[in-house]
Amino acid sequence: MEILTTQLPSGGYKYPFTTVSISPMNFLQITKYLENCPQDPLEKYLYDIRLLKEEDPNIQNCYVMDLDFLIFLKKLITVSDDLTYTISAKCPDCGRVLKKRISLESDIHFKQIDSKIMEGAQIRLGNTSYDTIVPTVKDLEEVMSVYIRYKKITDIKIIKTISLIKNFKISANQIEKDILEAKHSDITLLLALQELYFDRLEGIELTCPCSKDKEGRRGMTVSVESLIVDFFRDILNNCPIDESKILFK
Ligand SMILES: [Zn+2]
Repeated sequence: MEILTTQLPSGGYKYPFTTVSISPMNFLQITKYLENCPQDPLEKYLYDIRLLKEEDPNIQNCYVMDLDFLIFLKKLITVSDDLTYTISAKCPDCGRVLKKRISLESDIHFKQIDSKIMEGAQIRLGNTSYDTIVPTVKDLEEVMSVYIRYKKITDIKIIKTISLIKNFKISANQIEKDILEAKHSDITLLLALQELYFDRLEGIELTCPCSKDKEGRRGMTVSVESLIVDFFRDILNNCPIDESKILFK
C-alpha cells in the first residue's frame, strides 16, 4: 500500500519523496513477530521500526510523528481489510468496557501542521539554551541506541523528548540532566514540545452511558499511541472467525 506523504501527520513537510509503502503482515510474518519481538519496550519499538524500514528504507527519513502513525497503520491494515477497526477502553467510573468501530477515514484526524514549528525552535531549559530539531526516525534511533546500551532511561516518551534537542551527542549528559530534572515552567515547555512534535493525532472520543452530565454520557479519549502499544492485542476482536471459516464435526 502506497501512502502519500501529504497524508501523514507532518503533511510530508519537505520530504524529498512523495510516498512511503507499508503492507499488511501475513501469518508467517505475524508468527515470526510473536516469536521474535523483544519484551523490552525500547527494543520492541526498535523492532517495529526495523520492520517498517525493511519494507521501505525511506521510513528512516520520516519524522517520528509520522512513524507512530505508520506503525498504527500497519497494524490497522493487518487486522482489517476495509480500514475499519474496533477499539475498546474501560470507563474509569463504572468499569464498563466500551467498544467503538472506527474508520481511518472518518475517525482519525491530525492536528493541523504549522510550517513555523517544523523549522525547529530555540528553547531555554534550566540555564542552557538549546536549538530543537524535528527528529526523524534516524535521529531517534541514534538516541535510543545510547539508552538501550546503558538502560539508564527506559521511557520512550523521555527518549523522544531528548531526541528533540539538536546535537544530542555533543552534550548528552547536560541535555539528559536538564530534561530529567526539569521543574516548573520547564515541565510545561517539555509537555508543549511533546504535544507539538509527537502527539499529532486527535484522540478518539468514546462515551459511556453511566455518566450523569447534561448529555447523559461519559466522555473519554483514546489516544492512537495507546493503540499501538501491543501490536496484535486486538487481532481476535477484529478478525473473528465464523462458520464460513471453521465447522467442527
Ligand atoms: Zn461508565
